Amino acid sequence: MRLARDVKGELARIEPARACCRRAELEGLRFQDGDAIRTLDPSTARVAMRLTAGRAITSRMDRGSRTRHHLAVAAPRRGGEWRWASAAACDRRAFLRGVVLGSGSLSFSATGPHVEFVFRNRARARRLRRRLATSGIRVAEFERRGRAVVYLKGRDEVATLLQLTGAHGALLDFEAEQVGRDVQNRLNRLLNAEAANVNRTVHAAERQVRAIERLEASGRFDQLTPDLRAVADARRAHPEADLEALARGLQLGRSAVHHRLRRLEQLAAEAGRQTGRQGR
Ligand SMILES: [Zn+2]
Repeated sequence: MRLARDVKGELARIEPARACCRRAELEGLRFQDGDAIRTLDPSTARVAMRLTAGRAITSRMDRGSRTRHHLAVAAPRRGGEWRWASAAACDRRAFLRGVVLGSGSLSFSATGPHVEFVFRNRARARRLRRRLATSGIRVAEFERRGRAVVYLKGRDEVATLLQLTGAHGALLDFEAEQVGRDVQNRLNRLLNAEAANVNRTVHAAERQVRAIERLEASGRFDQLTPDLRAVADARRAHPEADLEALARGLQLGRSAVHHRLRRLEQLAAEAGRQTGRQGR
């Protein structure tokens, strides 16, 4: 599976040709913090450097980890206010790409894809929700440790976001992976059904062997018809064989063997009832 880091790497390699798109992407990048871009992801820091024309970058150890460095790129506001409402489609896509790079955390695990954005600022979370919704991406929000977490509601949403932001390689992998998973699920179901079948066969065989032993113990085994005896002997000789194999060995049809085994079990049950009565 493609790593979340690779998705950001792919997004980071996109260099918008137009100034309007570069501006929008920068707005997305600093959507979280306002006047700086703080990130743990080196490729995001590179994009920030490119878009801010190489503003000062500082590196600070992440509080939660001894090995990770927070990279901070200063991004003071320049020019007029950027507005989503009046932004062209190319700029909305660029903005979302910036938001994913700057604030998104992505994971693609066995339980499915997950994309979320964590905000300290509730109003910003709400604003992003609206912007994603107008882009055709369903989102929901919950609170985690006092922060607003905006997350995408399902795999279709994740696919839409990958497409909108230009992560086409990731989208292809994502879809191929999903096809692979569907095949795997189908295979698992088949294997489970087969295992259940084997279980049933084993249980039936155990029951049959016990029935035959009961018939012997009650002295009825010798009174069995040759047909029944042949099947009983075969079952005792091959306690693990399935019906198919027993039938082949006896040169009989499956249903004939099945009926005789059932008959043996019935006789064993009758023998049990009679000895029960005699013993009383
Ligand atoms: Zn543009």
